[in-house]
Amino acid sequence: MSETPGTTVPDVLPASVLDGAETYDVVVVGFGIAGGCAALEAARAGARVLLLEKAAVHGGTSAMSGGHFYLGGGTPVQQATGHEDTPEEMYKYLVAASKEPEHDKIRAYCDGSVEHFGWLEALGFEFERSYYPEKAVIQPGTQGLMFTGNEKVWPYKEQAVPAPRGHKVPVPGDTEGTRIVMDLLKERLAEAGAEVRYETGVTNLVVDDSTDGGAVVGVAWRSFERTGTVRAGAVVMAAGGFVMNADMVAEHTPALGSKLFTLGSTYDDGLGIRLGSSVGAELKHMDEPFITAPMYPPSVLLTGILVNNRGERFVAEDSYHSRTSQHVMEQPGSEAYLIVDSEHGELASYSMLVPIIDAYDTIEELETALSLPAGSVATTLARYNEHAARGEDPDFHKSPEWLAPQDTGPWAAFDLRLGKALYAGFTLGGIRVDVDGRAQRPDGSVVTGLYAAGACASNLAQDGKGYCSGTQLGEGSFFGRRAGRHAAAVAAGAVAPA
Ligand SMILES: Cc1cc2nc3c(=O)[nH]c(=O)nc-3n(C[C@H](O)[C@H](O)[C@H](O)COP(=O)(O)OP(=O)(O)OC[C@H]3O[C@@H](n4cnc5c(N)ncnc54)[C@H](O)[C@@H]3O)c2cc1C
Repeated sequence: MSETPGTTVPDVLPASVLDGAETYDVVVVGFGIAGGCAALEAARAGARVLLLEKAAVHGGTSAMSGGHFYLGGGTPVQQATGHEDTPEEMYKYLVAASKEPEHDKIRAYCDGSVEHFGWLEALGFEFERSYYPEKAVIQPGTQGLMFTGNEKVWPYKEQAVPAPRGHKVPVPGDTEGTRIVMDLLKERLAEAGAEVRYETGVTNLVVDDSTDGGAVVGVAWRSFERTGTVRAGAVVMAAGGFVMNADMVAEHTPALGSKLFTLGSTYDDGLGIRLGSSVGAELKHMDEPFITAPMYPPSVLLTGILVNNRGERFVAEDSYHSRTSQHVMEQPGSEAYLIVDSEHGELASYSMLVPIIDAYDTIEELETALSLPAGSVATTLARYNEHAARGEDPDFHKSPEWLAPQDTGPWAAFDLRLGKALYAGFTLGGIRVDVDGRAQRPDGSVVTGLYAAGACASNLAQDGKGYCSGTQLGEGSFFGRRAGRHAAAVAAGAVAPA
């Protein structure tokens, strides 16, 4: 029952270690958004629930986060602000934006989104019935709604009717907004009778080999020098991602390495994911990070052009910032520059995430200074300007709203090279689960007794190109609830475990 650093997969312990152990219907590992929601639903369904949290406080990375929940299909905020949306349009968008759409999960998420919105508010807060119309990373104030994905970006805008779905908790600023939700979850859990133990990290899963396929029947834990075991009808793994584990990052998502600022909390060490591996669960999308260095606001800069180190455009500049950033990562040397003319460069209000290199009187001078092939940017810019003057972008279909010829020098160059711009990121991959959160093996069979939710599971958030802000908190809470309900039903004998 020791700590398992690096990429080590913890040992599976035999059921004999549970002799004399305390017993719960559902043991939840980790008190972030996913674990908190799973535990609450399980407790409300009548299960005896134990929530084990390695840190001294609840919240995990969820409490650090800005507070976008991706919700839609006609939520009260969408209705109050005049934004029509239906579960069907939301479904079409998420299917189009997903790398490998899991249709049953997307369907459940979209059909259940309005109900889930109500469930979240019933914890004890209200999303403000207001809309933030700017193109930004997150609303600076408490406005309840904004666009947080690629809904208005080609080709998605042709595949589903665009609607804003980024619902923000009513806390100003861009971090720590979700703490209020975590505090409310803690209160509701106490009311529901779930037991929470802090400074107690789960170290191993316990498997009963006498059952068909080997069911997970408990956990081992460590609290400082003390160790112990708990027998469980079901275990819900909700222990976060792996961005803080340098060895796992090097193995799976090297782009999240040293040139980048990691977004996460201490215990995003991938142990939950490795515990899933220890009992044969498959891991999915482990090589897909969320990486971003937003080049807006101010959004007027999106009228400029993004070029790689060959002087070529490669993505519609009005894409959601993580989509743009992921495309930058795929360019030669992960290098790109944003070029904006003096008519459109609002330098004074520009964010420091993407530093300005300099401004140049001629494009020739700019090419030389950035070591770009002679004539490359001149050719790219001439073509862009010619079409932009007509409100067209035949190459990348940038929306007319962001098309403007960049023909008035001097031209500013902003540095989007990895290692220069302040890229930040977290991991997206995790344990393969079905729509009820049950962990699955590579052949699709269920690992009886094990569920996973949140950042240690693989659900809707699959890659940076398709990511919408709010997906992680949205899916962590939504599928966390489903996992908790299913685990409780199995523990009560109401449904079969596998
Ligand atoms: C600055 C920032 C802003 C963000 N903004 C948004 C946003 O606006 N919208 C959005 O959707 N996403 C956002 N994200 C991402 C999102 O916050 C996370 O993906 C999400 O909170 C993960 O939730 P979780 O419940 O899976 O994990 P966590 O909230 O990290 O919870 C996991 C918990 O498990 C505990 N734990 C770990 N190992 C063990 C163990 N072995 N035993 C017991 N406990 C353990 C941890 O201590 C932690 O408390 C943001 C992230 C950051 C860093």
